[in-house]
Amino acid sequence: MSTLPTLTTPLSVGVLGFGGLGQAAARVLAPKRDMRLVAAADGKGYIYDPAGLDADTCISAYAKTGTLGTIETGGVLSHQSIQDLIEAAPQVQGYFLALPNLPNTFMASVAKQFIASGWKGVLVDAMKRTSAVEQMIELRDDLAKAGITYMTGCGATPGLLTAAAALAAQSYAEIHSVKITFGVGIANWEAYRATIREDIAHMPGYDVDRARAMSDAEVAALLDTTNGLISLENMEHADDIMLELAGIVDRDRVTVGGVVDTRNAQKPLSTNVQVTGRTFEGKTSTHTFTLGDETSMAANVCGPAFGYLKAGIELHQRGIYGLFTAAEIMPKFVR
Ligand code: NAD
Repeated sequence: MSTLPTLTTPLSVGVLGFGGLGQAAARVLAPKRDMRLVAAADGKGYIYDPAGLDADTCISAYAKTGTLGTIETGGVLSHQSIQDLIEAAPQVQGYFLALPNLPNTFMASVAKQFIASGWKGVLVDAMKRTSAVEQMIELRDDLAKAGITYMTGCGATPGLLTAAAALAAQSYAEIHSVKITFGVGIANWEAYRATIREDIAHMPGYDVDRARAMSDAEVAALLDTTNGLISLENMEHADDIMLELAGIVDRDRVTVGGVVDTRNAQKPLSTNVQVTGRTFEGKTSTHTFTLGDETSMAANVCGPAFGYLKAGIELHQRGIYGLFTAAEIMPKFVR
């Protein structure tokens, strides 16, 4: 099969954050030819090896010692691992930021660190809150001037489902509503601490700062009271601002809610997006895009994140910098 002449592969990429999603990202990339994972960082250290990282070695070192910094070949212990890695590995072409956005300004502060460092390349996040994506939008000009192509909201929701909504909208003359409903099943909440804390922050009576301050024991105690379930509706979710920015629908017509089961790998319900609109003939209809129940949150976040990273690297090589969302750019398939 012939393809358009594009990138020289494998692309050298990194992952910042090596918790649930960071480790899944390493596994997703392991069999790929288009991308080679060469760098990864966690809160206590980083590893860089231009020849490529072995996912199993990284995951078992992190499980045993709590950091990648203890790995003999290429591991470095550091309490400013992101800063040190940027300096140690200028050749990395792009990063997936699988970091907690706790506090709600953390990811924007990481973007500013990249801008200040002089590094040029592509960054992809899977941030969820509207107010977090708004901070990134404010950095648009600074990112462009720095020669960084930043893809925001590129996980599952926002991400895959927002992009599906953008595609589905094409059948309509006017969009009435976009309704995203997610079901997430994870066997144990501790595999995805940041994701679960950020979800708790949407529960009535909680906010980001309160959820961030909770100890692991407090999170476990809260989940005991709900039988491990977190049910959310009308969430502050960036799908709304992304679809508005893309000129598809006003943000108040986009709703997001769902159920997370923290004690069962099976999804409590099928994740879907429903896009309702009016066709040019005046008919009202709904397109529904439903994810397969067997696909995990990790598969539906990491796949798109690297698809957008590949698309971002193509833009970067064409001299196109600045900020883009998952609703504006088609992800590229990473072989
Ligand atoms: P996690 O808690 O499992 O892991 C976080 C990792 O980040 C850890 O390795 C930790 O050491 C590291 N880290 C923390 N502070 C750091 C620092 N200052 N420097 C370097 N590393 C640092 O996180 P997770 O559950 O995998 O979630 C990651 C993010 O993905 C969350 O923000 C979550 O909201 C987001 N997410 C998005 C979607 C989506 O569909 N858009 C879905 C799920 C999760």
